[in-house]
Amino acid sequence: MNGLMQDYPLTVHTLFRRGESNFGHKRITSVSAGHEAVTTYADWADDVRRLAGALDRLGIPRSARVGSFAWNSIRHLNLYFAVPASGRVLHCINIRLFPEQISFVINHAGDEVIFVDESLLPTLIPVLPSCPTVKQVVVMRDSGGAADCHSDMRGIAVHDFDDLVRTTNPVEFEPVDEWSAAMMCYTSGTTGDPKGVVYSHRSVFLHSMAASGVDTLGIGEADRILPLVPMFHANAWGIPHAAIAQGAELVLPGSDLSGPTVADLIVRHRVTMTAGVPTIWISALPHLEGRDVTSLRLIACGGAAVPAALSEDYRTRIGLPIQQAWGMTETSPLAAVGKLDADHAELSDGERAKLRTGVGRPVLGVEARLVRPGTLDAVAHDGVATGELQVRGSWIASGYYGVEQEESPLTDDGWLRTGDVATMDERGWVRLVDRTKDLIKSGGEWISPADLENELMNHPAVAEAAVVGVPHPRWSERPLACVVRVPGQDVGEAELLSHLSTEFARWQLPDRIVFVESIPKTSVGKFAKREMRELHRAAYAECSDHHA
Ligand code: ADP
Repeated sequence: MNGLMQDYPLTVHTLFRRGESNFGHKRITSVSAGHEAVTTYADWADDVRRLAGALDRLGIPRSARVGSFAWNSIRHLNLYFAVPASGRVLHCINIRLFPEQISFVINHAGDEVIFVDESLLPTLIPVLPSCPTVKQVVVMRDSGGAADCHSDMRGIAVHDFDDLVRTTNPVEFEPVDEWSAAMMCYTSGTTGDPKGVVYSHRSVFLHSMAASGVDTLGIGEADRILPLVPMFHANAWGIPHAAIAQGAELVLPGSDLSGPTVADLIVRHRVTMTAGVPTIWISALPHLEGRDVTSLRLIACGGAAVPAALSEDYRTRIGLPIQQAWGMTETSPLAAVGKLDADHAELSDGERAKLRTGVGRPVLGVEARLVRPGTLDAVAHDGVATGELQVRGSWIASGYYGVEQEESPLTDDGWLRTGDVATMDERGWVRLVDRTKDLIKSGGEWISPADLENELMNHPAVAEAAVVGVPHPRWSERPLACVVRVPGQDVGEAELLSHLSTEFARWQLPDRIVFVESIPKTSVGKFAKREMRELHRAAYAECSDHHA
């Protein structure tokens, strides 16, 4: 017997309509070139409908891929809704990929038109000649009157976003099948070519509901949200879609994500909730200290290993610990969130701090399990045993766009292999231990770079630390640490090794600690471990023995 409930469409249009019809008075602040523009939901929603009409005018068919190459801005937010609600697919192109990868993802997705921030034209223009599917480019004027490079785009029609929107009438949206594609993002390609993840209307809708849950990000009408996670990567953690549907106000930061600017935006706009990768929170902390941040209820952090000390630094210095979230491009991305339980309030500060070094519990709609890597053998959920973290759920990828079945990211029984190594306790609390691809194998024994990094960053003179495995003639790989000192501090290798040796066996210690000005980062602010390995690959070429 079937249930007797309505077939209610789980679509981006449904999310849009809720924002449009209930919250016309709410505000969206968009920052570009140091200038802040404030728009109401009502005006923004009108522009969304005009933009959808403009796509018709440009002759972009349904299901076509529309690329965006942009910072977090109100025009990008227009695209987040106009493109899927009108039946097209928004491909958010990661602006920080290498040029060959940018043309790879544009060609692979088959983008027909690209909406680009004027400030990013110098990055996009050189790749366009190798992207034959792109027939039109729409320029979004964000740079406050920078040089006009449009003349370089031979053979490609160039339009101005604001002119296009102003001169087009608003349209009504036609129904869209909830299983059809709404958005696309490519993985950042830390291992191999970027792979296309295709989000459906249904998955975006369900993910927005999940992001609104009180034990997840709790996105609601009372919020003013500053998404620092880029809209060109994993849908800015689903914040734009959830925020509009729930009527939260938004502050869209544009391109300047420096510590002082981020702190200023939080303080001046009385931001309630914000989300970013660890590097952002490391640089913002000194600028938040001593200021009025009482509006903040949640600082979410994830996307890369979060230093163990960071959350405590926030708690002791500004009164609010950061909260971890875990996910991947393939998981939309919210899959686990580290919101402490009610009875955790009875624990000591130290015990709660320890819990916060975990990524938390899988959110409703996502199931997680641990298996022995390369097998389907279950690993106990006892908080100690480690295994590969695997997930399944309604907003978890079932495959990659245009990629053969053999390269499926799923196990034979349908779970997504994440490549992350974790423990899980009896209450479902997940703690990431490492990434299978980053683990170091020395003399047949595994060494965890994440543990070493955490302990190094626990040292007061260390601002950032990243550990990689580099080839060694005898031990196959040995750990090498790159350390950025806190300005004005003069810690040396011997002191850091003695600091580490209280927690690690001698053979686990890095043979070498290299002091650097900065650690190379990937397109989305994670330590660029592949690049670091390349940089230091000859470090131990001459060595014979460092173990013993
Ligand atoms: P890529 O693997 O190409 O960097 P993603 O940006 O999708 O692509 O990154 C997902 C990965 O980021 C996860 O598999 C995990 O290794 C890492 N990650 C995400 N959140 C966290 C977190 N809170 N702590 C540690 N690592 C995280």
